[in-house]
Parts: sequence; structure tokens; C-alpha cells
Amino acid sequence: MKELKSNGRLVLMSPFLRSHYCKEILSEKIGANVTIAGWIEDIRPMGSLVFMTIRDKTGVSQVVFNKNKTSNEIFVLAKNVPRQSIVSLKGILSKGKGKNIPKEIQAKEMHVLGEAIHPLLLDPTGRVNASIDTRLNARALDLRNVKTMAIFKIRHIALQSIHRTLSDEGFLEVNTAKIIGQAAEGGATLFPFDYFGKDAFLAQSPQLFKEQLTMSLDRVFEIASYYRAEKSHTRRHLNEFISVDIEAAFAEKEDVMELAEKMVENATAEVIEKCSNELRTLEHKIEAPKRPFQKLTYTQAINELNQEGIKIKDGDDLKDHDLQVLGKIHSEYFWIIDWPAKLKPFYIARTTDGKKALSFDLQFGYLELSSGGKRVSDGKELEERLKESGLSPKNFEDHLKTFRWGMPPHSGWGFGLDRFLMILTGMENIREVVLYPRDQDRLLP
Ligand code: ATP
Ligand code: MN
Repeated sequence: MKELKSNGRLVLMSPFLRSHYCKEILSEKIGANVTIAGWIEDIRPMGSLVFMTIRDKTGVSQVVFNKNKTSNEIFVLAKNVPRQSIVSLKGILSKGKGKNIPKEIQAKEMHVLGEAIHPLLLDPTGRVNASIDTRLNARALDLRNVKTMAIFKIRHIALQSIHRTLSDEGFLEVNTAKIIGQAAEGGATLFPFDYFGKDAFLAQSPQLFKEQLTMSLDRVFEIASYYRAEKSHTRRHLNEFISVDIEAAFAEKEDVMELAEKMVENATAEVIEKCSNELRTLEHKIEAPKRPFQKLTYTQAINELNQEGIKIKDGDDLKDHDLQVLGKIHSEYFWIIDWPAKLKPFYIARTTDGKKALSFDLQFGYLELSSGGKRVSDGKELEERLKESGLSPKNFEDHLKTFRWGMPPHSGWGFGLDRFLMILTGMENIREVVLYPRDQDRLLP
């Protein structure tokens, strides 16, 4: 048995179950004793031989059972064990015969550690297509599909990169409460529940918390789940989604816009560098975005829409269809800036004439990726804004009081991680990039 190298990795207490991942076998010497563990993707009996394809998260290995070299018991088991069962296989590495199989394992022992039923809810090899609903109903099994797995490897790399960029820029990672007693932006889209006899809600955003934290922690970020009780049926909305949120003291909106561009640029570069196999598996190409991203003013957007024959007036919000049309004209990353003040939430600062919001939306084609801006940091002004929006300052007293304790000017944004993953992986349905998506119809698994 080959000794397991620790090289900083988890060393199995039961090395007899696995000495190598499938990929590691490729760099091992012919004649070595190896033990792999994974699931059976395929079994092909051919006379006195049985060929078995074993997959783990790193790739595949071919295993050969020879009737004359293994016990009869193992040979019969190899022929009959249900596909997708989890097995541990011990054997000797030999030169492979097929052109895509440089090395194969001559099996000596096999242990079935987790038998799969037959038939399964879906075929993870992808040979038989399954609908997204069937796949989500069997998500754990669907993840054995190399395409599905590729999505979540890319997600991991992007997330790591985002953490790194924000940390390197001096942002402190925080975790704020998701059980809240007061809505961040009014009550319409909240999930309410009973909290020991009081009304509570699931957080729709960390907006108020992260603003409060700038008075001490200066620059903060949070990557967490948020909840919106919207009954939307689109390919880009879920009722639970992950937002990357930042807030920075003493920053202007231009500062945080630049940070968002840098974060997108870094994550894209890292995915290109580290996930070339996964991108190939998904047949998706991504390129380094051109910076700085184009800036389109709200007024320009309205004019462009009018030119396309859409009846939209200055002051109207951009609806789904408007964004589709704009997304055809601007297919890459672009900003929409200088929004009318009335279209943005109460906490967004305004130009001195009060007409425009100091806010921005980041788009990728039709897809809104991020919203943010400079915030109101004056408590009195914030109180006025709440009233103007039809919200009662009394309900926001816990938030408003922090503005009397010395609140720095600050700016920030919220950025939809799942939507970013749609761009990185080329998926058109947000459900593809979320492990267990929650929408109106889906609460299980
Ligand atoms: P939209 O107009 O697309 O519904 P929004 O303006 O309501 O989004 P924000 O409150 O600005 O969303 O949230 C910040 C970001 O979080 C959005 O730009 C988007 O990327 C992401 N996001 C918001 N709501 C959802 C959702 N229901 N599902 C997935 N991502 C979302
Ligand atoms: Mn928005």
C-alpha cells in the first residue's frame, strides 16, 4: 500500500478505502498498488473480462476485472453491482489499451460501500436527458453529472476570489442577523414568522446593519442568503439568494463602483485560469471584461428605448422588457447611473438639487447584477426620506439612533452572486447555479 502523502491535506484514517483520487493515478508508476473509491459510471462485460468506469470528483479511472486473475466472487459481483453504487477498488496500475485511457487498474479487490437502487431517478452520465425539475428533485445525484459538478467548482473559485479581493481591499467580513424585527426597505416582500409571540421576518438585505457598521469597522462585507417573498416566475429570481454586500466609510459611489469592477475582473480571471476544464465541459467561453465598464445614464437609457420604439417616459422605472431591449444594445457589463431620485430607496443620497439619486445599477446585458450608491449619512435627512417614502421613522428608531452617534459618509452595493454565476457558467436559469433553489413551487429538497 502506497503511503498517503499528507502535504497539508486530510489523511484518511482508512487508507484501505482510498489511496488515490482518479486523477492522481495518471501520475503514478505502472505496477503501483492503488486503491480508488468512487461511483460506478459504467460496466461492460466482455467474455472473461469486465471493464468498469469509476468516477470520483476528480475524474474517471478504468478498472479491468479478469476472470482468471480475480476470485470468482469478485468477478460475479463486478458484473452485477448496480451502476452508480459507491465502491472501493484495489488493484495494480497497468498501461491502458484505449486511446483515451493511458492507465487502467487490474482489479484485485472490490468493496461495495453504498449500493445504489436501480433504476435511479435520473442518469447522471447525462446520456439520458432529464428536465431541470427532475434534476433538482434528485440534486445530490445530479451533482455526479460532470456539467452540474463543473458549475459548482466554478462557483467555489469565484467565491474564493471575491473573498480575496474584498479582504485585500481592507474589508472586514461580517455576519449580521437574518432574523430581523424590522424591514430594511418597507414590508412588501418579507417572509414573516412568529418569533416567541413577536412578529419577525427573514432578512431581505443587510442594508441597515452594514451601514451601521461603517461607523466603527469602516469597511465591511457580507456574503449571505437573503429572502424575498416575491411571487416572480423568472429565470433570474429566487426567493432565497446569495448577495455579496459591501459598505465603505468615506467612499464615494465612484470608489465602490471601481471596487465592483475589480471584483468582477479578478473573479473572471481566476475562473479562466483555474477552471479551464470546467468551462470546456460546459462549452462556455468567458473573456476578461473590458474596463472601465461603459456608463449609461438613465436619461440615455430612456432615449435608447424610445429610439427602439418603446413608450417610456422620463421618470418611469425600467421594466423587465425594457432591460431586455437595453441588454440587446449593451450585451456586456455596463452601468446605469444618474437615476431619478424617486426610483431609488430612502437611504440613497441625492444630488444637491435633489433630483437625481447618487446610485448605480450594474448590468450584464439584460441581467441586473448589482445596485448601490452613496447613502444618506445625516440622520435628519434620513428621517425625512423615510416619511417621503411612506415609512414611519418610529419603526426605524433603532436604525435612526445610530445616526446620532457620529456616522461617517459611506457608499456600498449589493451584488447577486447567483446571477454572477449565470454569467460565468453561461446558464440561463438561475436554478442551475444554486444547489437547492427556492421558488414559489420548490421548497424540497
Ligand atoms: P430585480 O430588479 O432584478 O428584482 P432588485 O433591484 O430587487 O433586483 P436589489 O435589491 O437591488 O435587487 O438587490 C441587489 C442584487 O441582488 C440584485 O442586483 C441582484 O443581483 C440580486 N438579487 C436581488 N433579488 C434577487 C432574487 N430574487 N434572486 C436572485 N438574485 C437577486
Ligand atoms: Mn436593484
